[in-house]
Amino acid sequence: MWQKTLAQTLHFEGIGLHGGKPVKVTIYPAAANQGLRFVRADLPGRPQIKAHFTRVADTTRATTLAEGEATLTTVEHFLAALGGLGVDNALISVEGPEMPIMDGSAAPLTRLLTETGLRSLPWPRAHFLVQRPVELREGDRWMRVSPGEPRITYFIDFPHPLIGRQKFTAPLRAESFRGEIAPARTFGFLQEVEHLQSKGLALGGSLDNAVVLDDSQVLNPEGFRFPEECVRHKILDAMGDLVLLGLPLLGRVEVALGSHAFHLRFLEHLVSQGSAWRVWVPSMRDREKRQSFFQTPLWEPATA
Ligand SMILES: [Zn+2]
Repeated sequence: MWQKTLAQTLHFEGIGLHGGKPVKVTIYPAAANQGLRFVRADLPGRPQIKAHFTRVADTTRATTLAEGEATLTTVEHFLAALGGLGVDNALISVEGPEMPIMDGSAAPLTRLLTETGLRSLPWPRAHFLVQRPVELREGDRWMRVSPGEPRITYFIDFPHPLIGRQKFTAPLRAESFRGEIAPARTFGFLQEVEHLQSKGLALGGSLDNAVVLDDSQVLNPEGFRFPEECVRHKILDAMGDLVLLGLPLLGRVEVALGSHAFHLRFLEHLVSQGSAWRVWVPSMRDREKRQSFFQTPLWEPATA
């Protein structure tokens, strides 16, 4: 019920998918009610970009955030790891225009965050509580939230012999995120990868950071990590995009044939349905908890 941040500062480094260059990242613990914010540490004035759906600038193949001139791309796996483990507040300093792709999944960061540990902050966590169903449909594609136990169900249908129709459900809880969703890697098709690289994109892309399929097989020698790794990865992407609501969602999520662009259009639609949701804070019955609640200033200065 309490907001969380990292127990200590975390450093890591990896290759950016599009630029193919090393990117350094430092995650600093932050005070309650600061949310998740990125800092473009390589730019003059170190501009900050809030992780919020109103800051989304582009959704072609990855989610890109922007604040003024400063942009940051491929934030979704990273945000999924923070959201999946329940990190409410952090300041993420990045020395480049894109987050490192790591192994194409959220497992390496989930491992690092788990080793670093989290600590509770003396302020209760507010939730985005779904009070009635909201749905958005665009042809065969749809997304819906409804009141109930927090979980996500995803359905995909790819015309490929090794993918086809896949459906998976995961509870929105840290343990299931770690074991069932975080290790699922991004996937792509050989033709598409060749096309992107001919245009100077996905230069860092390799079998070390994506599952690549040709017409009939997986090119990675190790194959899939799960039989339905693709749909699990779509859940990872959707969870990253859901973090951009700014508050953890309390409700059931269902998506069919989604994309980053569609997840984001759904979030805007959901937020515009004011009577369908409300901000809910767990009640403070316990006297001790209530005291610490009122002793904490609403806005503490950020740690970094
Ligand atoms: Zn992804």
